[in-house]
Amino acid sequence: MTEGEGQFYSVQVGDSTFTVLRRYQQLCAIGYGAQGIVCSALDTVLGIPVAVKKLSRPFQNQTHAKRAYRELVLLKCVNHKNIIRLLNVFTPQKSLEEFQDLYLVMELMDASLCQVIHMDLDHERMSYLLYQILCGIRHLHSAGIIHRDLKPSNIVVKSDCTLKILDFGLARTACTNFMMTPYVVTRYYRAPEVILGMKYKENVDIWSVGCIMGEMVKGSVIFQGTDHIDQWNKVIEILGTPSLEFMNRLMETVRNYVMNKPQFPGVSFNELFPDWAFPSETEHDQIKTSQARDLLSKMLVIDPESRISVQEYLVICKMMERHTTLFIVSWGFSLITELIYKEVMDWEERNKNGVLKEECLGESLV
Ligand code: AMP
Repeated sequence: MTEGEGQFYSVQVGDSTFTVLRRYQQLCAIGYGAQGIVCSALDTVLGIPVAVKKLSRPFQNQTHAKRAYRELVLLKCVNHKNIIRLLNVFTPQKSLEEFQDLYLVMELMDASLCQVIHMDLDHERMSYLLYQILCGIRHLHSAGIIHRDLKPSNIVVKSDCTLKILDFGLARTACTNFMMTPYVVTRYYRAPEVILGMKYKENVDIWSVGCIMGEMVKGSVIFQGTDHIDQWNKVIEILGTPSLEFMNRLMETVRNYVMNKPQFPGVSFNELFPDWAFPSETEHDQIKTSQARDLLSKMLVIDPESRISVQEYLVICKMMERHTTLFIVSWGFSLITELIYKEVMDWEERNKNGVLKEECLGESLV
């Protein structure tokens, strides 16, 4: 099916108007994110349910524009069973001059991890979910992408326990505190390196996985800071004041602040995650409980040098490397708008020519 003029129709979703290709019917709001609204829909061409995400004027400011461009480029390239798959991209506007809205069509999942994380999960389901997060993360790392902002709202699941990561986290140069939307940024899962503005490596994402696992076990958020500063307070109150050696690696201003905090001894992992918090039906579960607690104690470590690391990956995708390097460059607005528009046109062109295949990364990585 060629999708040209007259192929669009408009429908009101909350206080937003979705102008989508006619093939997408029965739109229904399912989620709200930093960038816009997400709807479920029926793709009448493929006969499958899909998720349609509207990015309204993605280039309204530098932060939005960079994020939209990065997400679009990476979604087009990444192909892995634990990363959400992009099925289509379109804009109802017909020229770069008119370009306003960007729509991403993705496979539809059943719920976000937020809705599942506090359920009574057995060891098997819990470890399967965590395993899939790690597979997705490992794939991103292998492509040179370090997420740094992994959280339950950015992870979606299906009732068969399959899981996919929705986004690619913080761009290297992203200004993380500046958002023009009323959307509240969740920082509970951010690693000490991110909170304190330190150098980071792949195991920055292990911290977030540890927070998610801990929350699955405990049934509540582990480090629930009320703001950026309080996030650090919660971490040291629970895990204890970090070593002097760690503090010496901080920027001077941050170090002064961190060193002037009261000293905390921290809580033991047995206390933090008591036996009763873990699922336990059989005797064998006792072993799993101690293994799970042991894993938590290796993930939730303030100093990344002592935290367990993700394996080093041999395969680095050349194309990804190219794109991630691009993000370091500071762009002007018009250039980003043009780049996003080109990506949409490129998608349509490739679609027309039937060349929409896995171009960058194969499933073989994990
Ligand atoms: P996002 O704007 O990508 O952060 O998504 C906001 C919310 O929409 C998520 O937290 C999910 O609840 C929901 N959502 C996004 N994409 C999907 C999808 N492909 N399938 C199911 N739900 C989704």
